[in-house]
Amino acid sequence: MKKILVTGGAGFIGSNLCEQLVNAGSSVIALDNLFCADKKNIEHLLSNKKFSFVLHDINDPLPKMKVDEIYNLACPASPIWYQKDPVMTLRTNTLGVINVLEFAKKNKCRVLQASTSEVYGDPEEHPQRESYRGNVNTLGPRACYDEGKRSAETLMMDYHREYGVDVKIIRIFNTYGPKMAENDGRVVSNFIMQALKGRPITIYGTGEQTRSFQYIDDLILGMTKMMETENFLGPVNIGNPVEYTITQLAEEIAKITGSKIKIELKTLPVDDPQKRRPDITLAKEKLDWAPKVPLTEGLTKTIQYFKTNY
Ligand code: UDP
Repeated sequence: MKKILVTGGAGFIGSNLCEQLVNAGSSVIALDNLFCADKKNIEHLLSNKKFSFVLHDINDPLPKMKVDEIYNLACPASPIWYQKDPVMTLRTNTLGVINVLEFAKKNKCRVLQASTSEVYGDPEEHPQRESYRGNVNTLGPRACYDEGKRSAETLMMDYHREYGVDVKIIRIFNTYGPKMAENDGRVVSNFIMQALKGRPITIYGTGEQTRSFQYIDDLILGMTKMMETENFLGPVNIGNPVEYTITQLAEEIAKITGSKIKIELKTLPVDDPQKRRPDITLAKEKLDWAPKVPLTEGLTKTIQYFKTNY
C-alpha cells in the first residue's frame, strides 16, 4: 500500500484527489494551512483509518513523516485568493516548493508539482503546446501566481538535475466540479450561484474571451497517470481542448439551471488572458489520457452539488 502526501489536500482539487486515492486503496495524508480551503471538503474522510489531516503551511519545513509520493498542490489558485496576499503566493511557490523538494530529497520520494496554464500568460500561440514559453507580464497583479508557478517548475527541474530528485510537472487548465468553493470568484462557481439565485450573470469584459473547461474527474485521472508513469518528467498539459467563450458558458449554465439569463457587464480584470486552449497531443502519447466528460454533463453534476450544499 502506497503512502501519499497531498499538500493543499483540503482544497478543491486536493480533496477530490485525496478521496479518489483513498478509494483506490492508498494511505493518504492531507496537509493544508486552510488559508482558502474548507475542512468540510475532507471531513467525511477523517473517520477512515487510511486518511489523516495535518494543519501545516508548506512555507515552514515539512513535519517528519514517511511517504512514497507527494502531490504538491498547496497554493491559492483563483485570482481573488492568490491576489489577497501576493507575497505569500510567491513565497509558497518558491520557499514552499523548496521545503517540499528538500523533504522529497531527504526521504527519496517522487514529487508531482501542480503547475498551471497560467505559465503561458496571455498566449500568442494557440492552442498552447508545452514547448511554448509564454507571454507573462512580470509586473501585473497575476504575476505572483504566474511567475510563482514558473519558478516552481524551475525549482523542480533544478532539484532533479542537481540532486536527482524524482520530479514530475503537470500544467493544469481551468477545472471545475464538486467541492469548488462558492466564494472562489471563479467563473464557473460565480455563474452557477448567480443562476441559482436568479441574480444577473457577471460577465467581465466582452465575454468573447475563451477558456477550456475540464471536469475534475478527468484531471484526477490525468494526474494519477502522470504520477505512475516512468521516464517522463513533463511538463504535460492536462486540460480539455474544447474551447468556449465566457458568454457561451453563461448560456450553457442558464440552460441547465432553467434560469432566464440577465447579463451584467463588468470591467475585465488587468492581464486577463484573451484565449486559452491546451494542445494535449503529449498527454495522449505519454499517458494515454484524454478528457472524457463533456461540458453539459460536468456542469449538470456541479450544479447539483451547489444546489445540495449551498
Ligand atoms: N469571469 C467572468 N465573470 C466572473 C468571473 C470570471 O466573466 O464572474 C471571466 C474572467 O475574467 C476570465 C474567465 O471568466 O476571463 C475565467 O476566469 P476564472 O477566474 O474562472 O479563471 P482564470 O482567469 O484564472 O482562467
